[in-house]
Amino acid sequence: MKKSEGLKAKIIENGKFNVNLFNGKLKQSFLKILPKIGRGLQKATRYYKKELHNPAEEKKVATLEFWNEITKKAHSLGIQLIGFAPVDENLIFEKDQTTKIDSLYENAIVLGMEMNYDAIETAPDAPAGLEALNIYAELGIATNNLADFIRSKGYGAIACHPLGGPILYPAMAVKANMGEIGRQGLLITKKYGPRQRLSMIATNASPLPEIKVEAYKISEYCDKCGTCIKMCPVNAILEEPIIHENGTISRIDSNKCFEYFYENVGCSICIKVCPFHKFGYDKLFKLKFYS
Ligand code: SF4
Ligand code: SF4
Repeated sequence: MKKSEGLKAKIIENGKFNVNLFNGKLKQSFLKILPKIGRGLQKATRYYKKELHNPAEEKKVATLEFWNEITKKAHSLGIQLIGFAPVDENLIFEKDQTTKIDSLYENAIVLGMEMNYDAIETAPDAPAGLEALNIYAELGIATNNLADFIRSKGYGAIACHPLGGPILYPAMAVKANMGEIGRQGLLITKKYGPRQRLSMIATNASPLPEIKVEAYKISEYCDKCGTCIKMCPVNAILEEPIIHENGTISRIDSNKCFEYFYENVGCSICIKVCPFHKFGYDKLFKLKFYS
């Protein structure tokens, strides 16, 4: 099992969200989503405790057929993006406030689920925030179900819920070669730009399938763009990222971002204005919006 090397998380305080912004139908949806998130978090914690009581062996041989089966199952559960990478201890948080997970198996299955395009277009209004919560709930359920499936095959699996969680998901997704990090600190993928939420399953299944290395050139585009920096309402996105000793990088001033985020039940402006969301990767690169 791998443990944190001391990375500190900025804690989201759920009680600070201004949920009064949800009225009428939005409120009804919100009241359905909230218990789903709660149940997903509780299940992740419950199964983690079981796993610790009866931990699986350090590594268990997995074939390519196994990984193909996992990928197929993930897609059937509504998870569109999947990648594989060894767990990096430097990316594990010192404290996981939401599910209390503090140790992980050797390998990671990184998962992503798309947020609805039209809902994100309403940012920073309430439908965008509600969609983020909706995907936290749905991806949380799907992650738990995929972990159940992996355990049913005789492997160890620890489901890491998308809301909070024990590890820095975007950086793990980059290790799994799913995309690159944009200047606003979010994972940018070819399929959805920055419009996805992430989760992870740690497993003892090994070896991982071969990781396909692809040069996305997203940071090159970001260097010339900077739209999210200009459009952030509270100037939270740093012009120059801060590189820490452990190799992690801060791209936003999270104190500034979180205050606005709480007031608006999520913000998502830096997703909405990103050309990788607006036009998509293929148009930006193949149709020569960028050269
Ligand atoms: S808005 Fe521009 S600079 Fe910001 S992440 Fe998207 S492409 Fe990069
Ligand atoms: S979520 Fe909103 S406040 Fe936070 S960095 Fe993005 S645009 Fe700025």
